[in-house]
Amino acid sequence: MRPDLFSPAGSAGYRAATNPHNATVAQRPAMVAHPRTADEVAHAVRWAAQRNLTVAVQASGHGAGAPIESDRLLVDTSGLNAVHIDANARVARVGAGATWAAVNALAERHGLLGLAGTSPTVAVAGYTFGGGVGFLTRPHGMASSALLAVDYVDGDGRIRRAPEDAANAIDREALWAFRGGGGVGVATALTVELIAPQQLWAGYRLWSVDALGPVVDAWATAMDEIGAALSTSLSVLHPPAGSPAFPPALQGVPVVHLAFASPQGADAAGPLLRALRMAPPPAVDSSWAPADAARLAQIHLDPPNPVPALGVGRWLGPGAPDVAADALDVAAAVDSPVAVVELRNVGNDAPARDGAMTAVPGPFLLHAVGLATDDASRSRTEDGLSKVRTATTPADIGRSAASFADGRAAVADGLDQPGLQRLGRIRAALDPDQRLAPSRLVATIT
Ligand SMILES: Cc1cc2nc3c(=O)[nH]c(=O)nc-3n(C[C@H](O)[C@H](O)[C@H](O)COP(=O)(O)OP(=O)(O)OC[C@H]3O[C@@H](n4cnc5c(N)ncnc54)[C@H](O)[C@@H]3O)c2cc1C
Repeated sequence: MRPDLFSPAGSAGYRAATNPHNATVAQRPAMVAHPRTADEVAHAVRWAAQRNLTVAVQASGHGAGAPIESDRLLVDTSGLNAVHIDANARVARVGAGATWAAVNALAERHGLLGLAGTSPTVAVAGYTFGGGVGFLTRPHGMASSALLAVDYVDGDGRIRRAPEDAANAIDREALWAFRGGGGVGVATALTVELIAPQQLWAGYRLWSVDALGPVVDAWATAMDEIGAALSTSLSVLHPPAGSPAFPPALQGVPVVHLAFASPQGADAAGPLLRALRMAPPPAVDSSWAPADAARLAQIHLDPPNPVPALGVGRWLGPGAPDVAADALDVAAAVDSPVAVVELRNVGNDAPARDGAMTAVPGPFLLHAVGLATDDASRSRTEDGLSKVRTATTPADIGRSAASFADGRAAVADGLDQPGLQRLGRIRAALDPDQRLAPSRLVATIT
């Protein structure tokens, strides 16, 4: 094995790997492994078993939140970052540490795109295993449904492959679990289907928070009229200090942000742009225009640097536009502990493959997030998030969107009960000693 496969506390490799994008919970594993091959992942899992350590896995750390203490080996998959595009088959084979920016920079050379989320630095792996919704979801469905196969290592350190036609039933079950069920095992590579956008368009607008009411009205009106191509994200957010995307007048104050995109050309935004004529002119109009993958990954204005974030994600029903104003208003005060309240329209009729969560449970997604730098700020943020939950209760369908529960170790209602039970059975079969730390989705062990 490579001498630098493992790095101990105090080393540069250890420090880099334990500095996740979500910095809410300090990570202090016994050791960090930096595999570059599936063999090295398998070796790391067996190495952990010999020392009675459990194995946590991390690509980018956007989903960090579970404690990682000295009873764990942290497998840092960022070195598993090879990307190969098969343009004829419209498929990408992606290392488990690859980011969406890396995949789509290559895919678009062939006129193709993967079903990325809003942030370029999120890894394909955790995003897809959590379901994966982005600006291409409306016509093309969830990223989990585009997952064709997973190469992975099980809890006993065995290298396995999970395509739809796997000879072994448990590998077919594993693919079901990787498709939106948080996954089982340590993935080493993913095979994902790519789409060919007809004409990718994207844009965003920013207003001072005074415009919240009319902008929400315009967005809600448009929701009844837009077709199946336009995805939107409407939020009130507190800009990170010094962010160049925000002009001086919008620094240090809550801002209304509306981002929208379509892979089917300009006309998709017609109803929204018409409705917005009734709202005040925006302070920033980052034009609705043809876009490439980099531009698509920029319109949501996600923070590029690590943030100690605590969030909540919920699937909402068709009543979401009716509760939007009250929900977004929670972040509208300068001193609100909630730094972002966001609503996305994600409803779609795209066909979905079989998986734990391959179709959106509700037509709208709520995401709210604040800072959790210490106990006091965590408590203030929790209070603010519960106000958002109260405001959205009439539209809530009773399911968490676990990927958006930033900074949390566990989410109980990310799948329905039969789904959680099936996930529990698959985990038990592939990891009988519970060597591998589970994803945030709490499976039911029967
Ligand atoms: C700024 C930001 C923007 C986001 N935007 C979106 C969005 O638009 N749409 C959306 O759906 N989600 C979005 N998310 C949520 C994101 O999808 C989750 O945080 C996801 O878990 C990140 O995956 P990761 O691999 O990058 O993160 P990591 O923190 O590295 O991994 C998260 C979890 O994924 C699992 N995992 C990762 N790698 C492996 C592996 N090799 N084998 C097995 N399990 C693995 C593990 O359970 C791990 O704990 C966003 C998050 C942030 C912080």
